Amino acid sequence: MIEMMTAKKIDQNGIWHSERRGKVPLLENYIPVPADVRTRDDSEPCLFIAQVNRYLSDCPVCDEPFDNNTIILRLQTVALLPAKCCDLMMWFIMDVMPIFHPMDEGGADER
Ligand SMILES: [Zn+2]
Repeated sequence: MIEMMTAKKIDQNGIWHSERRGKVPLLENYIPVPADVRTRDDSEPCLFIAQVNRYLSDCPVCDEPFDNNTIILRLQTVALLPAKCCDLMMWFIMDVMPIFHPMDEGGADER
């Protein structure tokens, strides 16, 4: 049986307080991506964690302003916003992040 990860169990440091596994840091860990937002793999690593109110001032569901303890977790192709006001896991599909751009050091592109 899989334990549900709920918004209220994820703290402002990105620690999931699991009933069965204890404190699980989500940063750099693989997080399961729900099928309806999945664009690639069924789980993706959490690349960074940020305060969500830098990007979004209010909850799009209940209109409560986000406090400084509400975080957003950036995965590879999606972002997860654990909204404690609604105890809702909100998923956003993101553009693929340019992690690595190989530079052509040869100068002219002859292809
Ligand atoms: Zn809300």
